[in-house]
Amino acid sequence: ITAAEQDVLDEIEEHDIDFLRLQFTDILGTVKNVSIPARQAEKAFAEGIYFDGSSIEGFVRIQESDMRLTPDPDTFAILPWRDREEGASARLICDVVNTSTGEPFEGDPRYVLKRALERAEEMGYTVNAAPEPEFFLFEEDEKGRATTKTNDAGGYFDLAPKDLASDVRRDIIYGLEDMGFEIEASHHEVAEGQHEINFTYDDALATADNVATFRTVVRAIAAEHGYHATFMPKPIAKIAGSGMHTHLSLFTEDGENAFHDESDEFDLSDEARAFTAGILEHAPAITAVANPTVNSYKRLVPGYEAPVYIAWSDRNRSSLIRKPAARVPAASRVELRSPDPSCNPYLAIAVMIHAGLNGIENDLDCPDPVRDNIYEFDEQKREEHGIETLPSNLGDAIDALEEDDVVYDALGEHVGSKFVTAKRQEFEEYLIDVSQWELDRYLETF
Ligand code: GLN
Ligand code: MG
Ligand code: MG
Ligand code: MG
Repeated sequence: ITAAEQDVLDEIEEHDIDFLRLQFTDILGTVKNVSIPARQAEKAFAEGIYFDGSSIEGFVRIQESDMRLTPDPDTFAILPWRDREEGASARLICDVVNTSTGEPFEGDPRYVLKRALERAEEMGYTVNAAPEPEFFLFEEDEKGRATTKTNDAGGYFDLAPKDLASDVRRDIIYGLEDMGFEIEASHHEVAEGQHEINFTYDDALATADNVATFRTVVRAIAAEHGYHATFMPKPIAKIAGSGMHTHLSLFTEDGENAFHDESDEFDLSDEARAFTAGILEHAPAITAVANPTVNSYKRLVPGYEAPVYIAWSDRNRSSLIRKPAARVPAASRVELRSPDPSCNPYLAIAVMIHAGLNGIENDLDCPDPVRDNIYEFDEQKREEHGIETLPSNLGDAIDALEEDDVVYDALGEHVGSKFVTAKRQEFEEYLIDVSQWELDRYLETF
């Protein structure tokens, strides 16, 4: 047993933890749990915990269903739920191991991200990432089902008394802090009922773990207050949707920010530019992973600060990539604005990293920044600037993914093929559905 594992055992003892939730995610990013009595922790570290992988979306076929969870001791956190009748519970995030080979399981999204980080490491970098997840708080009906009724009429950065949800948000923040999150900022977003909570950047793996945890904690604490928190990208048409802007930077082995360059007009090093160019080049395929639902594409439309056009900028918020001003060299980074919080954070961050590293490896040229509001450009003006558009629906995005070897290979064949199949099916189901919009528009007209 390692020192880190022993620390966990001590914490379990000290905090009187009864149950351990062993957490991992499926390909679609849904958090899965296997609960074990805390006294089995030592055994879980030593031998892993066996489970049947065939019941998990996109995992394995029935005939090869034996999987093993290996808890990562660095991810130990006590769950902050208030209503507990027995002792406390804690969670550990796990890697998934294929029991027949003893190797990491290729279908584990965390492993997909670890591969991306290994590639970065081979090139001499560690990767830092910080997400800005946005979400809505909606009221529940008498049956406890989610509605799309917002519980407040607040707007961007509004404070109480209009921001009635601020005490819910405050409790969410306390809960997150209890779990070890370092919250940087939180505010009411543009839309009614919409919120954003930012937590400090961390290495990319910890950040992906954090996003998975974040969604669970936010939903659970909102529910304690009788609200439904949703990370659905565009729950209400014609108002802002929820994004999950993702900030990325590469650090060198001696702890320097490889993206920082004082002498550059935009404080972007050659690496940062090539990384940006790589993401721009692979943006359509990245979209399939960072915006993986039918609903994601209702957000990626002009007018709501969500990106539509493939360009970067140091100032405007209509571009796909923004270079935020950095107060200190360590903070120099690029912000990808397309991801939304319905994505699998492990896969989304992995494909961004691979695309960016590919840009560095191939020394790609970064185009000039576009400083005007691209929403206002017409087609001709976009052509003059060489600006392409993001896929406008899930089907097109999946096509782009299948055509893009860099992004597809970032997922690997196992995850890639399962992802494409699941998402094609989802899109086809949507295509044959008859929506309320159609009924409203046509039922009485024809
Ligand atoms: N809600 C916007 C989006 O969909 C972002 C708004 C903001 O944070 N500036 O991405
Ligand atoms: Mg923000
Ligand atoms: Mg925001
Ligand atoms: Mg942002």
